[in-house]
Amino acid sequence: MPSGSQPAPIPCPICGAGDVNAVAAQPEDYEYRVRTDQAYGILACRACTSEFLAPRPAEAVLPSFYPRDYHAYNEDHGTIVGALVAMRGRKRAEELGRYGLGGQPTRIFDVGTGDCRHFEDMARHGAFEFAGVEINPDMVKSAREKGFAVEPGSLEALDITPYEGRFDVVTMYHVLEHVVSPAEVLARAFSLLRPGGMLCGQLPCVDSFDRAVFGRYWGGYHFPRHLQMFSSHGLATALERAGFGKVRVASALHLQAALSLQNLLVGGLGWRPGMTYGKTPAYPLLLLTAAPFCMLEFVVGRGGIMNFWVEKPA
Ligand SMILES: [Zn+2]
Repeated sequence: MPSGSQPAPIPCPICGAGDVNAVAAQPEDYEYRVRTDQAYGILACRACTSEFLAPRPAEAVLPSFYPRDYHAYNEDHGTIVGALVAMRGRKRAEELGRYGLGGQPTRIFDVGTGDCRHFEDMARHGAFEFAGVEINPDMVKSAREKGFAVEPGSLEALDITPYEGRFDVVTMYHVLEHVVSPAEVLARAFSLLRPGGMLCGQLPCVDSFDRAVFGRYWGGYHFPRHLQMFSSHGLATALERAGFGKVRVASALHLQAALSLQNLLVGGLGWRPGMTYGKTPAYPLLLLTAAPFCMLEFVVGRGGIMNFWVEKPA
Protein backbone atom coordinates (compact mmCIF):
# COMPACT_ATOMS: atom_id res chain seq x y z
CA MET A 1 0.00 0.00 0.00
CA PRO A 2 1.19 3.57 -0.57
CA SER A 3 2.34 5.26 2.65
CA GLY A 4 -0.20 7.52 4.28
CA SER A 5 -3.11 5.18 3.47
CA GLN A 6 -2.56 2.63 6.24
CA PRO A 7 -5.95 1.27 7.28
CA ALA A 8 -7.07 2.14 10.80
CA PRO A 9 -6.86 -0.82 13.18
CA ILE A 10 -10.25 -2.50 13.19
CA PRO A 11 -11.33 -5.83 14.68
CA CYS A 12 -11.78 -8.92 12.54
CA PRO A 13 -15.37 -8.81 11.19
CA ILE A 14 -15.44 -12.63 11.32
CA CYS A 15 -14.18 -13.66 14.77
CA GLY A 16 -13.99 -10.28 16.52
CA ALA A 17 -10.28 -10.52 17.42
CA GLY A 18 -8.30 -7.28 17.39
CA ASP A 19 -4.94 -8.70 16.38
CA VAL A 20 -4.69 -8.03 12.66
CA ASN A 21 -1.90 -7.28 10.20
CA ALA A 22 -1.71 -6.07 6.60
CA VAL A 23 -1.48 -8.59 3.75
CA ALA A 24 1.27 -7.67 1.32
CA ALA A 25 -0.56 -8.76 -1.81
CA GLN A 26 -2.91 -6.04 -3.06
CA PRO A 27 -5.53 -7.58 -5.34
CA GLU A 28 -7.15 -5.75 -8.20
CA ASP A 29 -10.35 -6.41 -10.08
CA TYR A 30 -9.07 -8.67 -12.84
CA GLU A 31 -12.57 -9.61 -13.98
CA TYR A 32 -14.40 -6.30 -14.46
CA ARG A 33 -11.74 -3.61 -13.91
CA VAL A 34 -13.93 -1.81 -11.39
CA ARG A 35 -12.08 1.12 -9.84
CA THR A 36 -13.08 2.12 -6.31
CA ASP A 37 -13.20 5.78 -5.28
CA GLN A 38 -11.40 4.91 -2.07
CA ALA A 39 -8.24 2.80 -1.69
CA TYR A 40 -8.75 -0.44 0.22
CA GLY A 41 -6.13 -2.62 1.78
CA ILE A 42 -6.46 -6.20 2.98
CA LEU A 43 -5.91 -7.19 6.59
CA ALA A 44 -5.41 -10.69 7.96
CA CYS A 45 -6.65 -11.75 11.38
CA ARG A 46 -3.95 -13.50 13.41
CA ALA A 47 -6.56 -15.29 15.52
CA CYS A 48 -8.68 -16.93 12.79
CA THR A 49 -6.47 -16.30 9.68
CA SER A 50 -9.41 -14.82 7.75
CA GLU A 51 -8.76 -11.72 5.63
CA PHE A 52 -10.87 -8.63 5.08
CA LEU A 53 -11.01 -5.28 3.30
CA ALA A 54 -9.99 -2.24 5.31
CA PRO A 55 -11.24 0.35 5.82
CA ARG A 56 -14.66 -1.28 5.86
CA PRO A 57 -16.67 -0.08 2.83
CA ALA A 58 -19.88 1.80 3.61
CA GLU A 59 -23.13 0.05 2.64
CA ALA A 60 -23.90 2.94 0.26
CA VAL A 61 -20.82 2.39 -1.95
CA LEU A 62 -21.37 -1.35 -2.45
CA PRO A 63 -23.59 -1.01 -5.58
CA SER A 64 -20.70 0.79 -7.33
CA PHE A 65 -18.61 -2.41 -6.92
CA TYR A 66 -20.97 -4.34 -9.21
CA PRO A 67 -20.79 -3.74 -12.98
CA ARG A 68 -23.84 -4.02 -15.19
CA ASP A 69 -22.58 -7.28 -16.70
CA TYR A 70 -21.91 -8.93 -13.32
CA HIS A 71 -21.86 -12.71 -13.82
CA ALA A 72 -24.57 -13.44 -11.25
CA TYR A 73 -26.98 -11.52 -13.49
CA ASN A 74 -26.23 -13.74 -16.47
CA GLU A 75 -29.29 -15.89 -17.12
CA ASP A 76 -27.90 -18.03 -19.91
CA HIS A 77 -25.95 -21.13 -18.91
CA GLY A 78 -24.18 -23.18 -21.58
CA THR A 79 -25.13 -26.82 -22.06
CA ILE A 80 -22.52 -28.30 -19.72
CA VAL A 81 -22.93 -25.73 -16.95
CA GLY A 82 -26.71 -25.94 -17.34
CA ALA A 83 -26.60 -29.71 -16.83
CA LEU A 84 -24.40 -29.34 -13.74
CA VAL A 85 -26.75 -26.71 -12.29
CA ALA A 86 -29.75 -29.03 -12.83
CA MET A 87 -27.87 -31.85 -11.06
CA ARG A 88 -27.09 -29.53 -8.18
CA GLY A 89 -30.80 -28.68 -7.89
CA ARG A 90 -31.63 -32.35 -7.43
CA LYS A 91 -28.88 -32.86 -4.85
CA ARG A 92 -29.97 -29.81 -2.85
CA ALA A 93 -33.60 -30.91 -2.98
CA GLU A 94 -32.67 -34.28 -1.47
CA GLU A 95 -30.41 -32.71 1.16
CA LEU A 96 -32.76 -29.91 2.26
CA GLY A 97 -36.01 -31.86 1.88
CA ARG A 98 -35.13 -33.88 4.99
CA TYR A 99 -35.79 -30.84 7.19
CA GLY A 100 -39.51 -30.62 6.44
CA LEU A 101 -41.66 -31.47 9.47
CA GLY A 102 -44.34 -34.18 9.54
CA GLY A 103 -44.88 -34.57 5.82
CA GLN A 104 -45.23 -30.79 5.33
CA PRO A 105 -43.38 -29.04 2.50
CA THR A 106 -39.91 -27.93 3.54
CA ARG A 107 -39.94 -24.16 4.12
CA ILE A 108 -36.83 -22.56 2.68
CA PHE A 109 -35.66 -18.96 2.95
CA ASP A 110 -32.83 -18.09 0.56
CA VAL A 111 -30.62 -15.03 0.98
CA GLY A 112 -29.74 -13.72 -2.48
CA THR A 113 -32.33 -15.61 -4.53
CA GLY A 114 -31.37 -14.12 -7.91
CA ASP A 115 -34.20 -14.90 -10.34
CA CYS A 116 -35.10 -18.11 -8.41
CA ARG A 117 -34.18 -20.54 -11.17
CA HIS A 118 -32.63 -22.78 -8.49
CA PHE A 119 -36.04 -22.90 -6.76
CA GLU A 120 -37.51 -24.20 -10.02
CA ASP A 121 -34.76 -26.84 -10.26
CA MET A 122 -35.42 -28.01 -6.67
CA ALA A 123 -39.22 -27.99 -7.00
CA ARG A 124 -38.95 -30.77 -9.58
CA HIS A 125 -37.55 -33.08 -6.90
CA GLY A 126 -39.62 -32.45 -3.76
CA ALA A 127 -42.24 -30.43 -1.89
CA PHE A 128 -41.02 -26.98 -0.90
CA GLU A 129 -42.28 -23.55 0.08
CA PHE A 130 -39.83 -20.88 -0.99
CA ALA A 131 -39.19 -17.36 0.24
CA GLY A 132 -36.20 -15.09 0.15
CA VAL A 133 -34.61 -11.71 -0.34
CA GLU A 134 -32.69 -10.33 -3.33
CA ILE A 135 -30.81 -7.07 -3.72
CA ASN A 136 -31.03 -6.70 -7.52
CA PRO A 137 -34.39 -5.16 -8.58
CA ASP A 138 -34.39 -6.82 -12.04
CA MET A 139 -33.88 -10.23 -10.42
CA VAL A 140 -36.71 -9.55 -7.94
CA LYS A 141 -39.01 -8.64 -10.82
CA SER A 142 -38.08 -11.80 -12.71
CA ALA A 143 -38.57 -13.96 -9.57
CA ARG A 144 -41.99 -12.46 -8.90
CA GLU A 145 -43.06 -13.03 -12.49
CA LYS A 146 -42.33 -16.71 -11.87
CA GLY A 147 -44.59 -16.60 -8.81
CA PHE A 148 -41.97 -16.53 -6.05
CA ALA A 149 -42.58 -14.24 -3.05
CA VAL A 150 -39.17 -12.59 -2.99
CA GLU A 151 -38.54 -9.47 -0.92
CA PRO A 152 -36.41 -6.70 -2.46
CA GLY A 153 -33.26 -5.47 -0.73
CA SER A 154 -30.79 -7.00 1.71
CA LEU A 155 -31.45 -9.32 4.66
CA GLU A 156 -29.86 -6.68 6.91
CA ALA A 157 -32.45 -4.08 5.86
CA LEU A 158 -35.48 -6.41 5.75
CA ASP A 159 -38.18 -6.29 8.45
CA ILE A 160 -37.98 -9.96 9.37
CA THR A 161 -40.73 -9.86 12.02
CA PRO A 162 -43.27 -11.72 9.82
CA TYR A 163 -40.66 -14.38 8.97
CA GLU A 164 -39.18 -15.15 12.37
CA GLY A 165 -39.06 -18.80 13.41
CA ARG A 166 -40.92 -19.91 10.29
CA PHE A 167 -38.29 -21.72 8.26
CA ASP A 168 -36.91 -25.24 8.27
CA VAL A 169 -33.91 -24.18 6.20
CA VAL A 170 -32.11 -20.92 5.46
CA THR A 171 -29.66 -20.95 2.57
CA MET A 172 -26.97 -18.45 1.65
CA TYR A 173 -24.76 -19.37 -1.30
CA HIS A 174 -21.97 -16.83 -1.86
CA VAL A 175 -23.45 -14.19 0.44
CA LEU A 176 -21.37 -13.86 3.64
CA GLU A 177 -18.27 -12.69 1.78
CA HIS A 178 -20.24 -9.82 0.17
CA VAL A 179 -21.84 -8.20 3.24
CA VAL A 180 -20.55 -5.46 5.55
CA SER A 181 -21.55 -7.36 8.71
CA PRO A 182 -21.50 -11.16 8.46
CA ALA A 183 -22.40 -11.34 12.18
CA GLU A 184 -25.61 -9.39 11.56
CA VAL A 185 -26.56 -11.62 8.62
CA LEU A 186 -25.95 -14.78 10.68
CA ALA A 187 -27.98 -13.38 13.60
CA ARG A 188 -30.90 -12.72 11.25
CA ALA A 189 -30.64 -16.17 9.68
CA PHE A 190 -30.77 -17.60 13.20
CA SER A 191 -34.01 -15.65 13.86
CA LEU A 192 -35.64 -16.89 10.65
CA LEU A 193 -35.17 -20.56 11.59
CA ARG A 194 -37.40 -22.72 13.72
CA PRO A 195 -35.62 -24.54 16.57
CA GLY A 196 -33.81 -27.49 14.98
CA GLY A 197 -33.78 -25.76 11.59
CA MET A 198 -30.68 -25.73 9.40
CA LEU A 199 -28.59 -22.97 7.86
CA CYS A 200 -26.31 -23.92 5.00
CA GLY A 201 -24.29 -22.12 2.41
CA GLN A 202 -21.15 -21.82 0.36
CA LEU A 203 -18.30 -19.30 0.13
CA PRO A 204 -14.58 -19.01 -0.74
CA CYS A 205 -12.02 -20.45 1.68
CA VAL A 206 -8.81 -18.50 2.25
CA ASP A 207 -6.85 -21.38 3.79
CA SER A 208 -6.99 -23.33 0.53
CA PHE A 209 -4.47 -24.61 -2.00
CA ASP A 210 -6.18 -22.29 -4.49
CA ARG A 211 -5.23 -19.23 -2.40
CA ALA A 212 -1.77 -20.62 -1.56
CA VAL A 213 -0.89 -21.27 -5.21
CA PHE A 214 -2.41 -18.18 -6.84
CA GLY A 215 -1.83 -15.55 -4.12
CA ARG A 216 -3.16 -12.15 -5.17
CA TYR A 217 -4.69 -13.74 -8.29
CA TRP A 218 -6.83 -16.08 -6.20
CA GLY A 219 -10.41 -15.97 -7.53
CA GLY A 220 -11.76 -15.83 -3.98
CA TYR A 221 -10.61 -12.23 -3.57
CA HIS A 222 -13.04 -11.10 -6.27
CA PHE A 223 -11.85 -7.61 -5.34
CA PRO A 224 -13.53 -5.32 -4.33
CA ARG A 225 -16.79 -7.28 -4.05
CA HIS A 226 -15.62 -9.74 -1.40
CA LEU A 227 -15.39 -7.73 1.81
CA GLN A 228 -14.03 -10.70 3.76
CA MET A 229 -12.28 -13.93 2.87
CA PHE A 230 -13.14 -16.53 5.53
CA SER A 231 -10.83 -19.24 6.76
CA SER A 232 -12.58 -22.50 7.63
CA HIS A 233 -11.77 -21.89 11.30
CA GLY A 234 -13.00 -18.28 11.13
CA LEU A 235 -16.26 -19.39 9.55
CA ALA A 236 -16.83 -22.04 12.23
CA THR A 237 -16.09 -19.44 14.94
CA ALA A 238 -18.55 -16.93 13.43
CA LEU A 239 -21.27 -19.59 13.20
CA GLU A 240 -20.78 -20.64 16.82
CA ARG A 241 -20.78 -17.01 17.98
CA ALA A 242 -24.17 -16.60 16.25
CA GLY A 243 -25.58 -19.41 18.41
CA PHE A 244 -25.54 -22.28 15.92
CA GLY A 245 -24.62 -25.83 16.83
CA LYS A 246 -23.60 -29.00 14.96
CA VAL A 247 -21.17 -26.93 12.91
CA ARG A 248 -19.84 -28.65 9.80
CA VAL A 249 -17.47 -26.97 7.34
CA ALA A 250 -16.04 -28.88 4.37
CA SER A 251 -14.41 -28.26 1.00
CA ALA A 252 -16.82 -28.03 -1.91
CA LEU A 253 -16.25 -29.62 -5.30
CA HIS A 254 -15.98 -26.42 -7.31
CA LEU A 255 -13.90 -25.12 -10.22
CA GLN A 256 -12.99 -21.71 -8.78
CA ALA A 257 -9.30 -22.27 -9.64
CA ALA A 258 -10.27 -21.65 -13.28
CA LEU A 259 -11.01 -18.06 -12.25
CA SER A 260 -7.70 -17.85 -10.37
CA LEU A 261 -5.97 -19.08 -13.52
CA GLN A 262 -7.78 -16.48 -15.61
CA ASN A 263 -6.80 -13.75 -13.13
CA LEU A 264 -3.18 -14.85 -13.38
CA LEU A 265 -3.27 -14.74 -17.20
CA VAL A 266 -5.07 -11.38 -17.30
CA GLY A 267 -3.43 -9.65 -14.32
CA GLY A 268 -0.04 -11.32 -14.15
CA LEU A 269 0.73 -11.99 -17.81
CA GLY A 270 -1.15 -9.09 -19.37
CA TRP A 271 -3.49 -11.12 -21.53
CA ARG A 272 -6.25 -8.78 -22.75
CA PRO A 273 -8.98 -10.68 -24.60
CA GLY A 274 -12.53 -9.37 -24.86
CA MET A 275 -14.45 -10.41 -21.75
CA THR A 276 -18.15 -11.04 -21.23
CA TYR A 277 -19.67 -11.38 -17.76
CA GLY A 278 -16.12 -11.27 -16.39
CA LYS A 279 -15.04 -14.31 -18.40
CA THR A 280 -12.60 -14.64 -21.30
CA PRO A 281 -13.61 -16.69 -24.38
CA ALA A 282 -11.11 -19.34 -23.19
CA TYR A 283 -12.96 -19.92 -19.93
CA PRO A 284 -14.30 -23.39 -20.86
CA LEU A 285 -10.71 -24.43 -21.54
CA LEU A 286 -9.58 -22.95 -18.21
CA LEU A 287 -12.31 -24.97 -16.45
CA LEU A 288 -10.92 -28.16 -17.99
CA THR A 289 -7.33 -27.19 -17.16
CA ALA A 290 -8.17 -26.40 -13.54
CA ALA A 291 -10.32 -29.49 -12.97
CA PRO A 292 -7.55 -31.92 -11.84
CA PHE A 293 -6.20 -29.33 -9.37
CA CYS A 294 -9.70 -28.63 -8.03
CA MET A 295 -10.30 -32.35 -7.63
CA LEU A 296 -7.04 -32.73 -5.68
CA GLU A 297 -7.75 -29.86 -3.28
CA PHE A 298 -11.27 -31.16 -2.74
CA VAL A 299 -10.03 -34.67 -1.94
CA VAL A 300 -7.52 -33.42 0.64
CA GLY A 301 -10.00 -30.93 2.12
CA ARG A 302 -8.22 -27.73 1.04
CA GLY A 303 -10.60 -26.52 -1.68
CA GLY A 304 -10.93 -22.86 -2.63
CA ILE A 305 -14.67 -23.01 -1.96
CA MET A 306 -16.25 -24.43 1.19
CA ASN A 307 -19.71 -25.55 2.22
CA PHE A 308 -21.15 -25.21 5.69
CA TRP A 309 -24.12 -26.71 7.54
CA VAL A 310 -25.25 -25.70 11.02
CA GLU A 311 -28.37 -26.12 13.12
CA LYS A 312 -30.31 -23.85 15.43
CA PRO A 313 -30.44 -25.74 18.73
CA ALA A 314 -33.81 -27.45 19.24
ZN1 LIG B 1 -10.62 -13.36 12.95
